[in-house]
Formats: sequence, structure tokens, C-alpha cells
Amino acid sequence: MLSPADFIVSEINAGIFMLDREYRVLLWNRFMAHHSGLESEAAIGRNLFELFPELPQKWLVKKIDSVFVLKNFAFTSWEQRPYLFRFQHNRPITGGIDYMRQNFTFMPMRDESGEVEAVVVTLLDATDSAIYQTMMQGAMQKLEESSNRDGLTGVFNRRYIDARIFDEIQRIQRYQAVPFSVVLLDLDHFKRINDTYGHLAGDEVLREVARRVQPGLREPDVFGRYGGEEFILILPQTDIEGARAAAERIRFAIGSETIVSGDEHIAVTASLGVAEFAPPFATAAEVTQAADEALYQSKHAGRNRVSVYVAQQSKVG
Ligand code: GH3
Ligand code: MG
Ligand code: MG
Repeated sequence: MLSPADFIVSEINAGIFMLDREYRVLLWNRFMAHHSGLESEAAIGRNLFELFPELPQKWLVKKIDSVFVLKNFAFTSWEQRPYLFRFQHNRPITGGIDYMRQNFTFMPMRDESGEVEAVVVTLLDATDSAIYQTMMQGAMQKLEESSNRDGLTGVFNRRYIDARIFDEIQRIQRYQAVPFSVVLLDLDHFKRINDTYGHLAGDEVLREVARRVQPGLREPDVFGRYGGEEFILILPQTDIEGARAAAERIRFAIGSETIVSGDEHIAVTASLGVAEFAPPFATAAEVTQAADEALYQSKHAGRNRVSVYVAQQSKVG
């Protein structure tokens, strides 16, 4: 009959094995046998690295040798190294985790003279913690991503845009980078669209406008809904003339075809205002205010057009 200690070593739901100085297996419990597919009789006496060529030998040798030399415990966690042995796990929901995540403890086993004659290694299955952490991270990422988005159109929201303008300003001040431009866009007579076709059709128009703007953007451009039927673009490394051209393209993309909602064909146009972040502007508020003034000018001049804020004369042209 097994002694209680042997019984526990055999039956515990954790890996336990023991190695001598030449990394030969001296003990191999049932958990190890079960997960590796290698019975204790086949493992004992064999070199661990010959049995498991996938093990990170150099790293593991250093770990084990330190226990022999320093006579101290050593640990490794799945967060440093996800696994040493390629063991399957049995979780139905994996959160993308391939092999069993493993925590190890390396314990010195001393003989009567106090010398370490063997190292006992325990393996704890940390897969549940790893799955939990992966899912948490995924959820946090999604949350963060959605907190940057406008619920109706899916484009960035004002909070995010404001933060990005702030970043751009910092970047320019730090690296003397090429200025950026801001384009404000407001749909024309949108109240009338709501009144004529209903609020739901109005929502559909907002979504479609957001869709029409996106194909014309470059990779660094940031596009968002600034509120109501007003959208905003940040165009990094773009001067006022580049921004004007981009704004014209967008104006055309929005207004060149009617928007279909149910049986209705809805004509939509937009007015745009463009401003470049350049001296004397020093804040996000100043450059957006300038774009807003230019936008107002577009409205005033009859809508469905682009106006540019001219910095020097503080005039709109
Ligand atoms: P202008 O050409 O001068 O910009 O006229 P406008 O009618 O577009 O301007 P106004 O600011 O008077 O009206 C904006 C309208 O946009 C009023 C508001 O009800 C509507 N609106 C704001 N947010 C939404 C939304 O999320 N969905 C819908 N359907 N309408 C919205
Ligand atoms: Mg408006
Ligand atoms: Mg409007």
C-alpha cells in the first residue's frame, strides 16, 4: 500500500516531478503522466530534455542549476512564460489560449549533509487565470474602443477628437512638425430633412454621410462626429490648401448623389469650414473656433461650399 505522502503525490491535481543534477527524471507523478502521455516507467531515468525537446533548455537549465547551487526555491509564472510543457487544457471556452498555462515551483531536496541532491518541480495549471485575464483585457479594450465612438455613426466622438487635437498640438510644439488642419462640416438645412422625412430618416442620413466621408481619408486623418449634424476632421501634416482640397472632395462626396432611405431619395449638402493650426493659434479651442467661423461664412454665403479661415487678417476667404 502507498504511504499517505506517496498517495498525495500520485493523486494530486498538479504536476510533480523530480530531477537529479543531470536533469534525469527521478519521479514523475500521475498528473505529469496523464498530460504528457508518458508513463512514469518510461520517464524515470531519462533526461528531461531528451523526453521533451520543446522545453526551453538553456533557460530551464539555468533555473534548475540555480536551485542546486543556491539551495533556494525558485518560481516561474505563466505571466513570464505561458508554459513549459505543451499540455492540452480541457477548457471549452479558451479565450484564444492554446496550451495549458503553467506556474512552476522548483524546490531543493537536500541530503543528510545539506547538499542538494535533487530538485522537485511542481506544476500548477493556471489556465483559468489566464483565460480570465485574456477575457478581461479583451473586454477592457472593447470598452475603451467603444468609449471613443459615436453610437449612431460609429465614427469617433467629440471626446476622442478633442484628445487627438490636443495630441497634435503637443506633437507640433515638441518636434516643430508640419502643422495640421481642422475641417468642420455641418449639414445644410438638416432640420428640414428631419421635418420632411422623419427623425429616423435623419439618422440614416447621418450614418450615410459618415460612410461617404471615410473613403476619401488618408491613413493619419481623424474623422468624427462633433455633435448633432456636425462632423470634424483633423488632417495631420496638411496645410490650408491641402485641407481646402480635401474639404472640397468631401463636400462633393456627400452632395453628389441623393441618399436613399426607404422609398425616399434625400438630397443632402454640407457646408464646411477649414482652418490651419498655425501662429497665433496656441490651443485646440482657437483652431476649432477659426474653423467654425469659416463654416459660418459658408452658411452665410449660401451653403454647400467650403470656406477657409485666413489667419493673418483674421478674415475669412
Ligand atoms: P443649417 O443649414 O443652418 O445648418 O440648418 P440646420 O437645419 O441644419 O441647422 P439647425 O442647427 O437649426 O438644425 C440641426 C438639426 O439637427 C436639429 C436637430 O434636431 C437635428 N439633429 C441633431 N442631432 C440629430 C440626430 O442625432 N439625429 C437626427 N435625426 N437629427 C439630429
Ligand atoms: Mg449644426
Ligand atoms: Mg446644419
